[in-house]
Amino acid sequence: MTRRGQVLMITIRGDMLEGGGQILRLSTALAALMGEPIKIVKVRGKRRPPGLRRQHMTALEVLASLCNGRVEGLRLGSTEVFFEPGDIGGGSYRFDVGTAGSVSLILQAAMPVMVFAPSPVKLRLRGGTNNPMAPPVDYLERILLEDLKLMGVEARLRVYRRGFYPRGGGEVEVQTQPSRRLKPLVLQDLGRILEVRGLVYSCRLPSHIANRMASSASERLRRAGLDPVFEREVLQPGNPKCSLDPGCGIVLSVKHSYGFFGVDNLGVKGKRAELVGLEAADQLIKLVEGGYPVDRHLCDQLIVWMALADGVSRVKTIELTLHALTCIELTKTILKAEFKVEGDLGKPAVIECRGIGYER
Ligand code: ATP
Repeated sequence: MTRRGQVLMITIRGDMLEGGGQILRLSTALAALMGEPIKIVKVRGKRRPPGLRRQHMTALEVLASLCNGRVEGLRLGSTEVFFEPGDIGGGSYRFDVGTAGSVSLILQAAMPVMVFAPSPVKLRLRGGTNNPMAPPVDYLERILLEDLKLMGVEARLRVYRRGFYPRGGGEVEVQTQPSRRLKPLVLQDLGRILEVRGLVYSCRLPSHIANRMASSASERLRRAGLDPVFEREVLQPGNPKCSLDPGCGIVLSVKHSYGFFGVDNLGVKGKRAELVGLEAADQLIKLVEGGYPVDRHLCDQLIVWMALADGVSRVKTIELTLHALTCIELTKTILKAEFKVEGDLGKPAVIECRGIGYER
C-alpha cells in the first residue's frame, strides 16, 4: 500500500507470478469494482518487450469509461499505470483496438464491471476475435458465459464479424443486465455428459478445411464414446461476418450435469486441418475421461467471479496454471477473497473460494 494524497492506494507489481497483461487488466477491473485507486508498476514485467500494448491500452480505456474513471500512464510501452475509478454506469460503449489485439481479453476484464453496473450495458469492440494465446470469442460464448449464467450473470455475446491476425477488424458486442449479487459455483464432478458441441469456422479459405477439422475431431470423439453435434461456419468475402484476413479454428464444448467446459484450437498455415481437429478432440477426451469439469483456461477465467460471489465456490481443474494462481493472488489482495488450493502448479487441483458477496 502507498499513499497518494490522502487516499490509501494499492500498488500491484506487474511482474509477479505470470507477469503478463492479465495482472493489469484484472487488477484495474477489481479497482473499478471496489471504487479504489490503484497503481500498477512493472507492467507486463515478464514479457519482452514489457509495458502496454494496444490491447492493454484499450482495456484500460474501456474500464475507465465503464466507471467514469481516469488513467495516467496510458502510452504504448508504458510500464507504470495509475487508475482512479469513479462510479460504474450503464449505457452503450464502442471501442476499436486498432490492431488484431484480442477483444476477448478486453471482455474478460470488462464483464465483471459491466454486470455490476446499475443499468444494462452494451459494449461493442473491434479487434481480433480468434487469436493465439487468448480465448476465442466462441469460447466465451459457449463455455464461460454458460457457466456464469449459473451464477446469475445475464450476458449475451454476438459476433458480427470475425477478426484474425494481422489486421483484426472483427466486431463483437456484449450486452449485460445488472446483477445484484452472484451465486457461488460448484464444478467438482461431471455427473452425466448431456451434450457435446463442435464449431468449426473458416474465413477466406476453401470449405474442405473446416470439413476436415470437423470430421477428424468428430471421428476421434465418437471412438471415445462421445457423440458430438457439429456446426460449420464457412465464410467467404461478401458475407458481412467474413474477416479481413484468412483464418480458421475449432471450438468443442461439453454440457454436463453441473456446467460447461471445453477446448479450442486455431488453424495455422502449414498445419494439417486434421491435426487441428484431432488435438482439440484429444484434449476434450482427457477432460471427460479424467472427470474434470474445468479446463485449464476456464479455471483462471472463473477466479474473479468466484471471488465476487456470495458463498463458497469450488472447482476441480485438470491443470493449475500460473494464470490461475495470479488471479487468486490479485483477488486475495484487492477483494480480500479467501482461497484454499489443493494441488500443485501444472497438475490437477481443487480450488475453493469464499467469495466476498460483492453487491452493487
Ligand atoms: P501478455 O501479452 O502480456 O502475455 P495477454 O494480455 O495477452 O498477456 P495473458 O496474461 O497471457 O494475456 O492472458 C491470457 C488469457 O487468455 C488467460 O485468461 C488464458 O486462460 C486465456 N487463454 C489463452 N489461450 C486460450 C485458449 N486457447 N482458450 C481459452 N482461453 C485461453
